[in-house]
Amino acid sequence: MCSSGTIFPNHNETPMHVPPSGASQGNAMPPPSDIVRNPGGLRPCAGMDLALSEAREAARNGEVPVGAVILDADNRPIARASNRVEADHDASAHAELLAMRAAARARGTTRLEDCTLVVTLEPCPMCAAAAVHFRIRRIIFGAWDPKGGGVDHGPRLFGQPACLHRPETIGGIRERENSLMLKEFFRALRHHS
Ligand SMILES: [Zn+2]
Repeated sequence: MCSSGTIFPNHNETPMHVPPSGASQGNAMPPPSDIVRNPGGLRPCAGMDLALSEAREAARNGEVPVGAVILDADNRPIARASNRVEADHDASAHAELLAMRAAARARGTTRLEDCTLVVTLEPCPMCAAAAVHFRIRRIIFGAWDPKGGGVDHGPRLFGQPACLHRPETIGGIRERENSLMLKEFFRALRHHS
């Protein structure tokens, strides 16, 4: 656990901004979604520790190991969830969607404008769209998801001109740890099937 509990000890310490690959001028790609990658100057550990423990819980339950946490403006967790797709027989029961719903319910509002979504894997297009609807302020995610991601892959939702709300997005936090957990889960799944 991060001793300071602070995600952004110095917000002026701007990490490098790298546009998504392939987003060059003159082609059909959507405009860059301004994703911050692997920010070395930040210490985003408090929420990710909780998200990782939720992901491990999901794996113990036979779910794809993804965990999510919603932090308030003071980086205090107000909701957390793990994948419940199999348990609930609900293909939309992704960790981040469940966490956003729980946070909104706890707050008694549909808008989470001062909140950060911390999730172990790049959100899929469905969850990225839900983050827009919930007006999430910031998304911090762990592993990249070239196949199922919707933020830096696929539709790159926040880079679309029609996207009405663009959460600040930081990707690749504890990427090795997060992607290793997923790889091990799928390796074990193949081994047992
Ligand atoms: Zn999702």
